[in-house]
Amino acid sequence: MSTTEQTYIMIKPDGVQRGLVGEIIARFEKRGFKLAALKMETPSKELLEKHYGDLADKPFFPKLVKYMLSGPVICMVWEGLDAVKTGRVMLGATNPLASNPGTIRGDYALQVGMNVCHGSDSVENAKKEIELWFNNDVKQYKLDAAQWIYEA
Ligand code: UDP
Ligand code: MG
Repeated sequence: MSTTEQTYIMIKPDGVQRGLVGEIIARFEKRGFKLAALKMETPSKELLEKHYGDLADKPFFPKLVKYMLSGPVICMVWEGLDAVKTGRVMLGATNPLASNPGTIRGDYALQVGMNVCHGSDSVENAKKEIELWFNNDVKQYKLDAAQWIYEA
């Protein structure tokens, strides 16, 4: 666990279409995480198949790729204490119906096939995803507010 841990967070096409971009960014900002990279992207099928490579043999895989191709996505890297695990907690469960209120999926989604937002599930996968989506082009700067977020 470190204060420079990074996670890859992606607002999926339904999140963009439903006007949830600002809301989702605001949650990570307000929590105290540092924005390290941000872009809008219309990913290729190849990129999405790589991103979701671990799920290639799942029955829902073709539907998942089609969903992710249905519109632009917002790609982000957020940095801070325990960012990967905390990001997943902020997202909620994969199935929105099982997600607690107060989580992104628990507040804004109902079905697993349109669950609004992606978050890396391990530090190792976060590294792979940041390389895949940003080619590791992540900004380095000091967040001045950090002195009010992290204990000395
Ligand atoms: N998904 C789906 N049906 C399922 C499981 C997953 O459509 O039964 C989709 C859903 O959009 C999910 C994505 O596939 O977010 C990736 O699945 P994963 O198990 O990695 O869930 P996540 O890490 O996004 O919570
Ligand atoms: Mg996953």
